[in-house]
This record gives sequence, C-alpha cells and structure tokens, in this order.
Amino acid sequence: MEWKMAPSAMAIAAKNVIFELTQNGHEAFWVGGCIRDELLGRPVHDMDITTSAVPEEVIAIFARSVPTGLAHGTVTVLQDGHGFEVTTYRTESGYVDHRRPDHVVFVSDVKEDLRRRDFTINAICCGRGGDLIDPFGGEKDLALRVIRCVGDAEERFDEDALRMLRCVRFASVLDFSIAKNTWRGLLRKRDKLAHIAVERVRAELERIVEGPHPRRGLAMLARCDLLARGKAPFPWTGTDMAAAAAFTAAIGELESARLRWALLLHALKQSAQEADELLRAWTFSGTTRTGVVQVLRVREAWTAALEAVPPGEPGGTDLLRRRWIAAVLSFGVEAAEGWLSLLAILPAAALPAATSPADSKDSPAVSIPAFSKISPAVNTPAAPELVNGLIHLQAAREWITQMPLTSLSELAVTGNELAEALDKRPGPWVGKMLNALLQAAASGDLLNDKQLLLLEAKRMDGHEL
Ligand code: ATP
Ligand code: MG
Repeated sequence: MEWKMAPSAMAIAAKNVIFELTQNGHEAFWVGGCIRDELLGRPVHDMDITTSAVPEEVIAIFARSVPTGLAHGTVTVLQDGHGFEVTTYRTESGYVDHRRPDHVVFVSDVKEDLRRRDFTINAICCGRGGDLIDPFGGEKDLALRVIRCVGDAEERFDEDALRMLRCVRFASVLDFSIAKNTWRGLLRKRDKLAHIAVERVRAELERIVEGPHPRRGLAMLARCDLLARGKAPFPWTGTDMAAAAAFTAAIGELESARLRWALLLHALKQSAQEADELLRAWTFSGTTRTGVVQVLRVREAWTAALEAVPPGEPGGTDLLRRRWIAAVLSFGVEAAEGWLSLLAILPAAALPAATSPADSKDSPAVSIPAFSKISPAVNTPAAPELVNGLIHLQAAREWITQMPLTSLSELAVTGNELAEALDKRPGPWVGKMLNALLQAAASGDLLNDKQLLLLEAKRMDGHEL
C-alpha cells in the first residue's frame, strides 16, 4: 500500500529532513510509531527518522542538530521549528541487563534496523515516495488489530523486559489483541520484569490507566500476572487484579487521570496511607500523588461517618451532613467531588453503608433539607436517606453546593484578628479555633461575618476550646 502522510507542518518538516539526507547520498525513512499511527488514522505526535547516514554525517548535513544519543546513533535534527530523532540503521546485541543492548552496530540495510524493533506494527518504514517497507507484515497486523513481536517473542522479551509492558500498553491503547506466540512468550518471560526500573513500569502503566481502553489493559495485566513480578512494590497478584475488575468496570468513563488512579487503588483495597506510599514508590509526581490520596482520604472520612451514624438515628442526617462538611473542609472540594464521582460509577455492591440496591426503590424520594445558613435543621427526623448509599451520594453533592464557604481563606476572620480580639498570644490555639469557626460557618451554624465570628470566638474562648 502506498502511504499518504497527512500534510501537517511536522510532516513537511520531516520530509525536508529526509530530502536533505537523500540528496546527500544516504537512505532515509519515516519509521515506527508515526507510520503505525498514521496508518491507523490516529494523531501523530512525533516523527522518527531512520537513515543509513552515520551520526557524524547527519550532523554535517544539518545546520541545527543536537547529539542526543550518539552511542546509539541518534541525533536530534531541528528543522522548521520541529525536532526529529534521526537514528542510524543499527542492530543490537548483548542485553545482559534485560533492558539495554551492550553493543549497537551500525548497518547498511534498513531491514536489519527494522528487525531489532519490538512489534511488527512498529517495524514499518516509509520514504518520501510513499512506499512502505514492511518486511514483518506490520500492515497486515494493523488490519488484524494484533500485537506481534518481530521474530521470536521469548527472545525479544528476554532481551528487553520492558517490551512486555509495551505489548500490553499497545494492546490496551489501540484496543488490539496479542498474538498467541507473543502472549506465550510474555508468560514465559514475565519474571524478567524485575529488571526494569520503576519509572519505566510506571510510565507504561500510566499510559494504560490513562488511555482510551484502561479496562482492557488492566484485564490483560490481571491475566498475565505481570505486575507482581515488577521491581517496584506492586503488591497485587493477578487474582487481586481480577477481583478488582468488577469495581473498575467503568474506569474508562472517568475523564480525570487522578480519579482513575484513585478508583484503581480503591478497587485494590488500598488505604489512603498505603496508596500514598505506593504512589511515592512508583515515582509519581507529588501533585498526582496528593490528588489521588486526598480522594481516598475523603472516602475514609465518609465511610467512617456512615459507620458512626446508624441508620434511622434521630438527627442522623444532620450528623452525617456535618461529618461530610468536615471532610470537604479537610481534604478540599475537588477531592470530595472526586470521591462522589467514583461513588457514582462504582457498582452498588461496592458502595459504603451497604443495603441492597433494591431498597432504594422502596425508599420514598428524599428531599435534602434546605437548611438555613444560620440555623441548620438540627432536628431532622430519622431520614430514609440514611439507609441507602446512592441517596447519600445525591445528598452529599447538595451539601457541597449549599456550603457558604469551603476553605479557611474565605473565612471572614484571620488568625491575627482572633489573637487581637481575644488579647492572647498566637499559638496552636489559633488554628484550632479558626477550624472550629470554619466548620460552624460552613455548616450554616454561623454567618461568615467578622463581628459574629469574633463573638463566637470569645464564647468559645470562655469555654476553653
Ligand atoms: P509512542 O511514541 O506512542 O510510545 P512509539 O512506537 O513511537 O510509540 P517510541 O518509544 O517512541 O514508541 O519508540 C519509537 C520506535 O522505536 C518504536 O516504534 C519501535 O520501532 C522502536 N522501539 C521503541 N522501544 C523499543 C524497545 N523497547 N524495543 C524495540 N524497539 C523499540
Ligand atoms: Mg514515539
């Protein structure tokens, strides 16, 4: 088949690089992921070029280049505002560490270069004329929607154990199946994953979990039991992951990567503390880690609240509302809403405070008391919503929207004002009192008004908070 590159600015710039190389008597082709994605009609984010020119020759041809990986034959050429990795045809051997080749040898036949690549769909190249060079049937495998190793799968996974995770990642992201021999090779070599650095495992996992078909990748990981064999503390066996699958069935519906991780960790029964340690060990960024962990902390606070308030207890709804507001204040609105988004897609069996979903049908429709900002509905009678998790979810959503303020920065008094009004030296009591005032104002017990808050502070001070 002739390959027609979509005429993007990047493609035109890459074509110029290929043109220059061929004008100087070398061979040069687009190769790998860009051909695969273009043939699939997927967006192409970067374009790699493979060439018969050795790095010194590449550097001599282009005005602007960076020797990014000379030992492996890679020069980044800057052309028309784009950067392209231009790599000399090479073969690899050695792989003593099951990750990186000990030797690379530059070769003159592009087919030799394609042979060292991981999967048939990644081992296609194409020149300016548009003819594909596809010695391993990559185009056919794209049509069959199958991931297949170039050559002997066991050998290829033994050379570089990361390829096993790449295999699952491509199958997951592209929604492809894995060829029988490739899968068998993966099962035989899965223990070698222990040689792969945590960051690399994490990067592939991120692409699986955050990609378009996370469920597919997670199911494959469960089946091959690969993760438990990794170097990082991935404490789950395939059985754990299979058990978690019921809870992550709708993971693909979540837009937010942070929520997908929170759902997965929830499904794998991790406490917020355990999740924090795991995400740290996997070298996640602090922002992602905190975002995920806060959602799980909300879960813990909410579950504790549901357990503390027995169904049917007089005033139970209001108690629950106050506990929920305390959680929102402690962990933030975003995390609280995040947890509610997870609740909304978890199967009913996984909801906290379980009663059978059938009960909800019999429950009368619940109206959440529209509490006054000053005097909340403290005497709410035993409410039917206490018996059903899904109705809780609805209530919790409304409770957030009814909060007059959601963070300390919105409170109408500052710590200094408190210290001055009470004529006391600032100390740990300030934080405690601010939080108590925040809880009262956010729950609607008190207007968020400086004078009223200071009055309440004095009253609290009298009671030795
Ligand atoms: P994406 O960029 O979407 O991850 P890609 O296929 O472009 O996909 P890269 O990691 O950018 O992946 O690698 C570019 C090409 O290099 C691949 O298409 C493949 O031909 C080859 N390649 C990358 N990693 C390996 C590996 N571990 N073993 C063998 N070949 C590899
Ligand atoms: Mg790429």
